[in-house]
Amino acid sequence: MSNVHIIGGGLAGLSAGVALAQAGRRVRVYEAGPTAGGRCRSYFDRELDCRIDNGNHLILSGNSATMAYLSAIGARSTMRDPGSAKFPFIDLTTGARWTIAPGAGRIPWWVMRPSRRVPETKITDYLQILALRKAGQDATVADLLDRPGALYAKLLEPFAVAALNTPPSEALARLLGAVVDETLLAGGTACVPLFPRTDLSASLIDPAVAFLQAHGGEVQTGCLVAAINSEAGRVTSLATTTGAIDLAPDDAVVLAAPPWIVAGLLPGLATPDAFQAILNVHFRLQIDPGPVGFIGVIGGMAEWVFIKRDVVSITISAANRYVDLPASEIAARVWPDVQKVLDLDQPMPPVRVVKERRATFAATAAQEARRPGPRSAFANLVLAGDWTATGLPATIEGAIRSGQTAAKLVLA
Ligand SMILES: Cc1cc2nc3c(=O)[nH]c(=O)nc-3n(C[C@H](O)[C@H](O)[C@H](O)COP(=O)(O)OP(=O)(O)OC[C@H]3O[C@@H](n4cnc5c(N)ncnc54)[C@H](O)[C@@H]3O)c2cc1C
Repeated sequence: MSNVHIIGGGLAGLSAGVALAQAGRRVRVYEAGPTAGGRCRSYFDRELDCRIDNGNHLILSGNSATMAYLSAIGARSTMRDPGSAKFPFIDLTTGARWTIAPGAGRIPWWVMRPSRRVPETKITDYLQILALRKAGQDATVADLLDRPGALYAKLLEPFAVAALNTPPSEALARLLGAVVDETLLAGGTACVPLFPRTDLSASLIDPAVAFLQAHGGEVQTGCLVAAINSEAGRVTSLATTTGAIDLAPDDAVVLAAPPWIVAGLLPGLATPDAFQAILNVHFRLQIDPGPVGFIGVIGGMAEWVFIKRDVVSITISAANRYVDLPASEIAARVWPDVQKVLDLDQPMPPVRVVKERRATFAATAAQEARRPGPRSAFANLVLAGDWTATGLPATIEGAIRSGQTAAKLVLA
């Protein structure tokens, strides 16, 4: 039987592998790191003496490829699910708290009720969201949505920064439009926020590795692919840190490494080359998470506070502006926000600051133009990754979809 060789054991590579294994193909995943997962992984942190995620990851129930992937690997029930769309917020400048709770259906009846809207907003404010559907090629989020009033500052801006990880004055509106179409504009049933009950790897990574192994596949960690060799337009072998891998004539390759690695492996291919950081500040605290488990923060350095099993964990996106600050300073600046959000009066507990410098490509017009489609110059190599031209920003959904697309091309 022929093999499909997958370079990169992040979500794109794993989802390609799962789709190929489901179709009866034998899959070999080569992952450079000590574990699979890439930018979506968990590990034991000695300082905090517990497992943490590299960063908080939220998905919405409208992320259809992700939901299908979770079902395929038998991990749907590992996600924390509040049962309906609920987004609690606090404004640190006023102390006001509110919860956005879109109703289940497509018609947004909830915006008719002042108690369910963002404070100080009118029904008509919400119409501006529709402008995303007609976003011009290069229009930014701020061009279309930054209007005076509370809706932008208290909902649209935080949502855009979380989804695109790019300052709204630079972020492409049409990428946000694609997310909003499949979530906010699809009704509350598509907006239920989900995150792993235990940790990222337990939900999204380990069950996929187990699925591949159960289907005759292999996931080789600590195996870095250093070169791709070809002849007459086909990949013939891979040079790896654990030895050469020769391809049989009907073998295929899915290249699912990050863009800066792919640029080195396939010289001449344009890939995104500007990135935005995400900071996660994990405080060792055990607190009752309540029904939702996270809260959006307006007016602080912290943007989202997640209450997890062993830590309270803060996300700051589009964080190139902060990433070079010392970790101790970041933690000291964020802790007062956490105290206010959770109403705590205690000294700062042990903390770990995780800086993901290249968390995602910058979702700008210039970077969007550098996203290649899944086909490559080689007949038996396809590309996958959140940075390929998925029509979505760099997200779990984009990564998983890209893997599924790559698998379809291999099977075709
Ligand atoms: C802190 C943080 C928070 C995030 N939050 C969210 C969120 O809330 N919601 C959301 O939807 N998305 C979020 N994302 C984005 C999401 O994590 C990514 O879009 C997704 O994980 C990308 O998967 P990927 O497979 O495309 O790439 P990667 O995860 O980068 O996978 C590529 C893999 O290739 C491996 N590799 C590299 N070079 C080689 C080589 N030469 N040989 C073999 N293997 C190689 C890498 O080690 C890696 O495992 C977040 C990302 C970060 C960093």
